[in-house]
Amino acid sequence: MEGPVYEAKFFGSDDIMKIFAAEGVEYLLSCDGKVPLSSCNGKTICLFFSANWCRPCRTFIPRLVELYDTLKKKGKNLEIIFISFDRSEDGFEAHLKSMPWLAVPFDANLHRRLIDRYQVVRIPSFVPLCSDGITVEEDMIGCIEDYGAEAFPFTNKRREELKALDQRKREKATLEELLAHEGRNFLITGDDRKVPVSELACKTIGLYFCADWSPPCRAFTIQLTDVYNNLNSAKDHCFEVVLISTDRDLKEFNVNRRSMPWLSIPYMDRTRNDLCRIFDVKGIPALVLIGPEGKVVSMNGKFVVSSFGAAAFPFTDSRIRDLEAALRKEGEALPQEVEDVKHEHVLKLDMAKAYVCDFCKEQGRFWAFSCYVCDYDLHPSCVEKVTKDESF
Ligand SMILES: [Zn+2]
Ligand SMILES: [Zn+2]
Repeated sequence: MEGPVYEAKFFGSDDIMKIFAAEGVEYLLSCDGKVPLSSCNGKTICLFFSANWCRPCRTFIPRLVELYDTLKKKGKNLEIIFISFDRSEDGFEAHLKSMPWLAVPFDANLHRRLIDRYQVVRIPSFVPLCSDGITVEEDMIGCIEDYGAEAFPFTNKRREELKALDQRKREKATLEELLAHEGRNFLITGDDRKVPVSELACKTIGLYFCADWSPPCRAFTIQLTDVYNNLNSAKDHCFEVVLISTDRDLKEFNVNRRSMPWLSIPYMDRTRNDLCRIFDVKGIPALVLIGPEGKVVSMNGKFVVSSFGAAAFPFTDSRIRDLEAALRKEGEALPQEVEDVKHEHVLKLDMAKAYVCDFCKEQGRFWAFSCYVCDYDLHPSCVEKVTKDESF
Protein backbone atom coordinates (compact mmCIF):
# COMPACT_ATOMS: atom_id res chain seq x y z
CA MET A 1 0.00 0.00 0.00
CA GLU A 2 1.20 3.50 -0.70
CA GLY A 3 1.34 6.39 1.75
CA PRO A 4 3.00 6.66 5.12
CA VAL A 5 2.03 4.34 7.95
CA TYR A 6 0.65 6.36 10.84
CA GLU A 7 0.99 5.45 14.45
CA ALA A 8 -2.14 4.21 16.15
CA LYS A 9 -4.38 7.20 16.83
CA PHE A 10 -6.04 5.84 19.90
CA PHE A 11 -4.58 4.58 23.08
CA GLY A 12 -5.52 2.60 26.16
CA SER A 13 -4.87 3.69 29.73
CA ASP A 14 -1.78 1.46 29.97
CA ASP A 15 -0.14 3.44 27.16
CA ILE A 16 0.54 6.49 29.31
CA MET A 17 1.88 4.27 32.11
CA LYS A 18 4.43 2.78 29.71
CA ILE A 19 5.46 6.28 28.66
CA PHE A 20 5.85 7.35 32.29
CA ALA A 21 8.06 4.31 32.90
CA ALA A 22 10.15 5.00 29.80
CA GLU A 23 10.49 8.70 30.67
CA GLY A 24 11.43 8.04 34.28
CA VAL A 25 8.32 9.73 35.74
CA GLU A 26 8.15 8.41 39.30
CA TYR A 27 5.13 10.18 40.69
CA LEU A 28 2.32 12.58 39.77
CA LEU A 29 1.27 15.77 41.52
CA SER A 30 -1.97 16.88 43.08
CA CYS A 31 -2.40 20.33 44.58
CA ASP A 32 -1.57 18.69 47.94
CA GLY A 33 1.69 17.13 46.79
CA LYS A 34 3.12 13.93 45.34
CA VAL A 35 0.85 11.01 44.42
CA PRO A 36 2.21 7.56 43.50
CA LEU A 37 1.66 6.38 39.91
CA SER A 38 -0.03 3.28 41.31
CA SER A 39 -3.03 5.44 42.30
CA CYS A 40 -4.03 5.32 38.61
CA ASN A 41 -4.04 1.54 38.41
CA GLY A 42 -7.27 0.10 37.07
CA LYS A 43 -8.76 3.52 36.32
CA THR A 44 -9.90 5.06 33.05
CA ILE A 45 -7.31 7.76 32.50
CA CYS A 46 -8.08 10.98 30.67
CA LEU A 47 -5.34 13.40 29.69
CA PHE A 48 -6.11 17.08 29.98
CA PHE A 49 -3.88 19.46 28.03
CA SER A 50 -4.23 23.02 29.24
CA ALA A 51 -2.37 26.21 30.15
CA ASN A 52 -2.86 28.92 32.70
CA TRP A 53 -2.34 31.70 30.11
CA CYS A 54 -5.18 30.33 27.96
CA ARG A 55 -8.56 31.91 28.58
CA PRO A 56 -10.66 29.11 26.95
CA CYS A 57 -8.84 26.68 29.27
CA ARG A 58 -9.69 28.72 32.34
CA THR A 59 -13.32 28.99 31.19
CA PHE A 60 -13.56 25.25 30.59
CA ILE A 61 -12.00 24.08 33.88
CA PRO A 62 -15.07 24.75 36.10
CA ARG A 63 -17.14 22.51 33.76
CA LEU A 64 -14.53 19.80 34.03
CA VAL A 65 -14.33 20.13 37.82
CA GLU A 66 -18.11 19.73 38.00
CA LEU A 67 -17.90 16.62 35.82
CA TYR A 68 -15.01 15.20 37.85
CA ASP A 69 -16.79 15.73 41.18
CA THR A 70 -20.05 14.26 39.86
CA LEU A 71 -18.34 11.14 38.53
CA LYS A 72 -16.27 10.68 41.69
CA LYS A 73 -19.45 10.91 43.78
CA LYS A 74 -21.01 8.24 41.59
CA GLY A 75 -18.00 6.02 42.29
CA LYS A 76 -16.73 5.99 38.70
CA ASN A 77 -13.19 4.73 38.23
CA LEU A 78 -11.77 7.78 36.52
CA GLU A 79 -8.62 9.84 36.79
CA ILE A 80 -7.67 12.98 34.93
CA ILE A 81 -4.01 13.85 34.39
CA PHE A 82 -3.12 17.42 33.49
CA ILE A 83 -0.30 17.97 31.01
CA SER A 84 0.78 21.57 30.88
CA PHE A 85 1.28 23.91 27.94
CA ASP A 86 2.60 26.50 30.41
CA ARG A 87 5.97 28.00 29.70
CA SER A 88 6.92 28.56 33.31
CA GLU A 89 6.64 26.54 36.47
CA ASP A 90 4.81 29.45 38.14
CA GLY A 91 2.07 29.31 35.52
CA PHE A 92 1.90 25.53 35.88
CA GLU A 93 1.56 25.73 39.66
CA ALA A 94 -1.06 28.46 39.54
CA HIS A 95 -3.05 26.40 37.04
CA LEU A 96 -2.82 23.19 39.08
CA LYS A 97 -4.40 25.03 42.02
CA SER A 98 -7.70 25.18 40.08
CA MET A 99 -7.75 21.40 39.56
CA PRO A 100 -8.85 18.59 41.89
CA TRP A 101 -7.11 15.92 39.73
CA LEU A 102 -3.50 14.95 39.07
CA ALA A 103 -0.72 16.43 36.97
CA VAL A 104 2.52 15.35 35.32
CA PRO A 105 5.25 17.28 37.21
CA PHE A 106 6.53 20.36 35.39
CA ASP A 107 9.10 19.48 32.77
CA ALA A 108 8.77 21.44 29.53
CA ASN A 109 10.65 18.82 27.46
CA LEU A 110 8.59 15.91 28.75
CA HIS A 111 5.39 17.85 28.20
CA ARG A 112 6.45 18.60 24.64
CA ARG A 113 7.02 14.87 23.98
CA LEU A 114 3.60 13.99 25.41
CA ILE A 115 1.94 16.71 23.33
CA ASP A 116 3.59 15.24 20.21
CA ARG A 117 2.78 11.68 21.18
CA TYR A 118 -0.94 12.48 21.53
CA GLN A 119 -0.90 14.85 18.56
CA VAL A 120 -2.47 17.68 20.50
CA VAL A 121 -2.76 20.76 18.31
CA ARG A 122 -4.99 22.98 20.41
CA ILE A 123 -5.95 23.59 24.02
CA PRO A 124 -7.95 22.87 26.00
CA SER A 125 -7.80 19.29 24.85
CA PHE A 126 -9.31 16.30 26.63
CA VAL A 127 -8.06 12.87 25.56
CA PRO A 128 -9.80 9.87 27.14
CA LEU A 129 -7.60 6.78 26.95
CA CYS A 130 -10.50 4.39 26.51
CA SER A 131 -9.35 2.88 23.19
CA ASP A 132 -12.74 2.33 21.60
CA GLY A 133 -11.96 4.35 18.53
CA ILE A 134 -11.94 7.90 19.87
CA THR A 135 -9.24 9.64 17.94
CA VAL A 136 -7.34 12.36 19.69
CA GLU A 137 -8.17 14.99 17.13
CA GLU A 138 -11.89 14.67 17.89
CA ASP A 139 -13.34 17.38 20.03
CA MET A 140 -14.16 15.91 23.43
CA ILE A 141 -14.23 19.43 24.86
CA GLY A 142 -17.43 20.20 22.92
CA CYS A 143 -18.98 16.91 24.01
CA ILE A 144 -18.24 17.70 27.67
CA GLU A 145 -19.58 21.23 27.31
CA ASP A 146 -22.76 19.79 25.79
CA TYR A 147 -23.36 16.80 28.03
CA GLY A 148 -21.26 17.25 31.20
CA ALA A 149 -20.89 14.07 33.25
CA GLU A 150 -23.39 12.32 30.95
CA ALA A 151 -20.54 12.06 28.43
CA PHE A 152 -18.75 9.45 30.59
CA PRO A 153 -17.06 7.10 29.65
CA PHE A 154 -16.27 9.37 26.67
CA THR A 155 -16.49 6.59 24.11
CA ASN A 156 -17.81 6.88 20.58
CA LYS A 157 -20.59 4.53 21.60
CA ARG A 158 -21.63 6.84 24.44
CA ARG A 159 -21.54 9.86 22.16
CA GLU A 160 -23.77 8.12 19.60
CA GLU A 161 -26.20 7.16 22.37
CA LEU A 162 -26.44 10.76 23.57
CA LYS A 163 -27.05 12.07 20.06
CA ALA A 164 -29.76 9.47 19.46
CA LEU A 165 -31.40 10.45 22.75
CA ASP A 166 -31.42 14.13 21.71
CA GLN A 167 -32.90 13.19 18.36
CA ARG A 168 -35.68 11.20 20.00
CA LYS A 169 -36.47 14.04 22.42
CA ARG A 170 -36.61 16.46 19.53
CA GLU A 171 -39.14 14.27 17.75
CA LYS A 172 -41.33 13.12 20.60
CA ALA A 173 -40.81 13.22 24.33
CA THR A 174 -42.85 13.42 27.49
CA LEU A 175 -42.78 16.76 29.29
CA GLU A 176 -41.06 15.04 32.21
CA GLU A 177 -38.24 13.96 29.90
CA LEU A 178 -37.86 17.45 28.50
CA LEU A 179 -38.45 19.65 31.51
CA ALA A 180 -37.61 17.61 34.61
CA HIS A 181 -34.94 15.18 35.81
CA GLU A 182 -34.41 12.86 38.76
CA GLY A 183 -33.50 15.75 41.05
CA ARG A 184 -36.33 18.15 40.07
CA ASN A 185 -39.92 17.54 38.98
CA PHE A 186 -41.23 21.12 39.17
CA LEU A 187 -41.01 24.50 37.45
CA ILE A 188 -41.08 27.86 39.18
CA THR A 189 -43.47 30.79 38.84
CA GLY A 190 -42.52 34.46 38.85
CA ASP A 191 -43.58 34.63 42.51
CA ASP A 192 -41.45 31.61 43.52
CA ARG A 193 -44.11 28.92 43.71
CA LYS A 194 -43.26 25.41 42.53
CA VAL A 195 -45.55 23.86 39.95
CA PRO A 196 -45.20 20.11 39.23
CA VAL A 197 -44.33 19.38 35.60
CA SER A 198 -47.19 16.82 35.64
CA GLU A 199 -49.66 19.74 35.80
CA LEU A 200 -48.69 20.69 32.25
CA ALA A 201 -50.04 17.44 30.79
CA CYS A 202 -52.46 17.83 27.85
CA LYS A 203 -51.52 21.48 27.24
CA THR A 204 -49.78 23.06 24.31
CA ILE A 205 -46.37 24.19 25.55
CA GLY A 206 -44.14 26.99 24.32
CA LEU A 207 -40.46 26.66 25.19
CA TYR A 208 -39.35 30.26 25.28
CA PHE A 209 -35.60 30.89 24.91
CA CYS A 210 -34.94 34.44 25.95
CA ALA A 211 -32.77 36.84 27.93
CA ASP A 212 -33.65 40.09 29.63
CA TRP A 213 -30.66 42.00 28.18
CA SER A 214 -31.94 41.49 24.62
CA PRO A 215 -34.29 44.22 23.29
CA PRO A 216 -35.82 41.87 20.63
CA CYS A 217 -36.61 39.43 23.45
CA ARG A 218 -38.28 42.11 25.52
CA ALA A 219 -40.36 43.17 22.51
CA PHE A 220 -41.43 39.60 21.75
CA THR A 221 -42.25 38.93 25.42
CA ILE A 222 -44.94 41.62 25.16
CA GLN A 223 -46.50 39.90 22.12
CA LEU A 224 -46.28 36.47 23.72
CA THR A 225 -47.81 37.73 26.97
CA ASP A 226 -50.72 39.07 24.97
CA VAL A 227 -51.30 35.72 23.27
CA TYR A 228 -50.83 33.84 26.55
CA ASN A 229 -53.40 35.95 28.40
CA ASN A 230 -55.78 35.89 25.48
CA LEU A 231 -55.70 32.08 25.12
CA ASN A 232 -55.80 31.33 28.80
CA SER A 233 -58.77 33.55 29.56
CA ALA A 234 -60.78 32.11 26.69
CA LYS A 235 -59.68 28.49 26.54
CA ASP A 236 -59.32 27.18 30.08
CA HIS A 237 -55.55 27.35 30.39
CA CYS A 238 -54.73 25.31 27.30
CA PHE A 239 -51.41 27.03 26.65
CA GLU A 240 -48.39 27.15 28.94
CA VAL A 241 -45.05 28.83 28.37
CA VAL A 242 -41.78 27.79 29.98
CA LEU A 243 -38.92 30.24 30.08
CA ILE A 244 -35.53 28.77 29.24
CA SER A 245 -33.36 31.65 30.23
CA THR A 246 -30.12 32.56 28.52
CA ASP A 247 -29.60 35.39 30.98
CA ARG A 248 -26.04 36.11 31.99
CA ASP A 249 -26.59 35.63 35.71
CA LEU A 250 -29.13 34.75 38.36
CA LYS A 251 -29.99 38.39 39.04
CA GLU A 252 -30.93 39.06 35.42
CA PHE A 253 -32.84 35.78 35.31
CA ASN A 254 -34.91 36.84 38.32
CA VAL A 255 -35.75 40.19 36.74
CA ASN A 256 -36.68 38.37 33.53
CA ARG A 257 -38.96 35.69 34.99
CA ARG A 258 -40.69 38.08 37.38
CA SER A 259 -41.84 40.12 34.39
CA MET A 260 -43.61 37.08 32.91
CA PRO A 261 -46.91 35.38 33.79
CA TRP A 262 -45.65 31.84 33.03
CA LEU A 263 -43.22 29.25 34.39
CA SER A 264 -39.43 28.94 34.33
CA ILE A 265 -36.78 26.28 34.59
CA PRO A 266 -34.58 27.16 37.59
CA TYR A 267 -31.44 29.01 36.57
CA MET A 268 -28.92 26.64 38.16
CA ASP A 269 -30.13 23.68 36.18
CA ARG A 270 -28.49 21.72 33.34
CA THR A 271 -31.87 21.34 31.62
CA ARG A 272 -31.47 24.87 30.22
CA ASN A 273 -28.33 23.87 28.30
CA ASP A 274 -29.88 20.54 27.32
CA LEU A 275 -32.93 22.19 25.75
CA CYS A 276 -30.80 24.73 23.85
CA ARG A 277 -28.77 21.84 22.46
CA ILE A 278 -31.72 19.52 21.70
CA PHE A 279 -33.61 22.22 19.81
CA ASP A 280 -30.45 23.69 18.31
CA VAL A 281 -31.21 27.22 19.46
CA LYS A 282 -28.79 29.58 17.74
CA GLY A 283 -30.43 32.95 18.39
CA ILE A 284 -32.92 34.53 20.77
CA PRO A 285 -35.78 35.08 21.10
CA ALA A 286 -36.81 31.58 20.01
CA LEU A 287 -40.07 29.77 20.67
CA VAL A 288 -40.51 26.02 20.18
CA LEU A 289 -44.15 24.95 20.32
CA ILE A 290 -45.00 21.45 21.52
CA GLY A 291 -48.45 19.92 21.11
CA PRO A 292 -50.40 18.08 23.81
CA GLU A 293 -49.05 14.74 22.48
CA GLY A 294 -45.45 15.78 23.07
CA LYS A 295 -44.68 16.42 19.40
CA VAL A 296 -43.09 19.63 18.19
CA VAL A 297 -45.75 21.52 16.20
CA SER A 298 -43.53 24.48 15.29
CA MET A 299 -39.85 25.24 15.63
CA ASN A 300 -40.56 28.77 14.46
CA GLY A 301 -43.07 29.80 17.09
CA LYS A 302 -41.79 33.35 17.14
CA PHE A 303 -42.86 33.90 13.53
CA VAL A 304 -46.20 32.15 14.06
CA VAL A 305 -47.06 34.10 17.20
CA SER A 306 -45.85 37.48 15.98
CA SER A 307 -47.66 37.03 12.64
CA PHE A 308 -50.99 35.62 13.70
CA GLY A 309 -51.25 36.08 17.46
CA ALA A 310 -53.74 33.98 19.40
CA ALA A 311 -55.58 33.11 16.17
CA ALA A 312 -52.69 30.76 15.36
CA PHE A 313 -53.57 28.39 18.22
CA PRO A 314 -52.94 25.38 18.25
CA PHE A 315 -50.03 26.53 16.07
CA THR A 316 -50.09 23.50 13.76
CA ASP A 317 -49.00 23.74 10.11
CA SER A 318 -52.56 23.16 8.93
CA ARG A 319 -53.83 25.98 11.14
CA ILE A 320 -51.20 28.35 9.74
CA ARG A 321 -52.02 27.31 6.15
CA ASP A 322 -55.72 28.04 6.80
CA LEU A 323 -54.88 31.48 8.20
CA GLU A 324 -52.64 32.30 5.24
CA ALA A 325 -55.32 31.18 2.76
CA ALA A 326 -57.96 33.28 4.52
CA LEU A 327 -55.61 36.25 4.40
CA ARG A 328 -55.02 35.87 0.65
CA LYS A 329 -58.75 35.65 0.06
CA GLU A 330 -59.36 38.76 2.14
CA GLY A 331 -56.76 40.66 0.09
CA GLU A 332 -58.28 39.53 -3.21
CA ALA A 333 -61.64 40.96 -2.17
CA LEU A 334 -60.19 44.43 -1.47
CA PRO A 335 -59.64 47.17 -4.08
CA GLN A 336 -56.06 48.15 -4.97
CA GLU A 337 -56.69 51.73 -3.90
CA VAL A 338 -59.39 53.87 -2.33
CA GLU A 339 -60.20 57.49 -1.70
CA ASP A 340 -61.22 58.04 1.91
CA VAL A 341 -63.23 61.02 3.16
CA LYS A 342 -60.83 61.47 6.10
CA HIS A 343 -57.65 61.86 4.05
CA GLU A 344 -56.63 64.07 1.16
CA HIS A 345 -54.44 61.50 -0.69
CA VAL A 346 -55.30 58.27 -2.42
CA LEU A 347 -54.72 55.23 -0.13
CA LYS A 348 -53.19 52.04 -1.51
CA LEU A 349 -53.69 48.45 -0.39
CA ASP A 350 -50.68 47.38 1.61
CA MET A 351 -49.47 44.48 3.73
CA ALA A 352 -47.97 45.46 7.07
CA LYS A 353 -46.77 43.28 9.90
CA ALA A 354 -48.05 45.76 12.45
CA TYR A 355 -49.49 49.27 12.27
CA VAL A 356 -51.75 51.60 14.19
CA CYS A 357 -54.91 52.74 12.43
CA ASP A 358 -55.02 56.54 12.20
CA PHE A 359 -58.78 56.56 12.53
CA CYS A 360 -59.66 54.17 15.40
CA LYS A 361 -56.10 54.21 16.91
CA GLU A 362 -56.25 50.42 17.34
CA GLN A 363 -53.45 48.02 16.33
CA GLY A 364 -53.70 46.41 12.93
CA ARG A 365 -51.85 43.69 11.08
CA PHE A 366 -51.69 42.42 7.50
CA TRP A 367 -53.99 44.33 5.15
CA ALA A 368 -54.01 48.09 5.46
CA PHE A 369 -54.81 51.07 3.28
CA SER A 370 -51.75 53.28 3.42
CA CYS A 371 -50.84 56.70 2.09
CA TYR A 372 -47.65 56.71 0.03
CA VAL A 373 -47.22 60.49 0.52
CA CYS A 374 -47.53 60.78 4.28
CA ASP A 375 -47.56 58.36 7.20
CA TYR A 376 -51.23 57.42 7.30
CA ASP A 377 -52.77 53.93 7.68
CA LEU A 378 -56.33 52.69 7.96
CA HIS A 379 -57.90 49.35 8.73
CA PRO A 380 -59.79 48.18 5.64
CA SER A 381 -62.89 48.28 7.85
CA CYS A 382 -62.22 51.91 8.86
CA VAL A 383 -62.22 53.19 5.29
CA GLU A 384 -65.12 55.47 4.39
CA LYS A 385 -65.10 55.76 0.63
CA VAL A 386 -65.62 59.10 -1.04
CA THR A 387 -68.93 58.81 -2.83
CA LYS A 388 -68.71 60.46 -6.23
CA ASP A 389 -71.56 62.95 -6.58
CA GLU A 390 -72.99 62.18 -9.98
CA SER A 391 -75.75 64.87 -9.95
CA PHE A 392 -73.59 67.32 -11.95
ZN1 LIG B 1 -59.25 51.43 12.39
ZN1 LIG C 1 -51.42 61.29 2.79
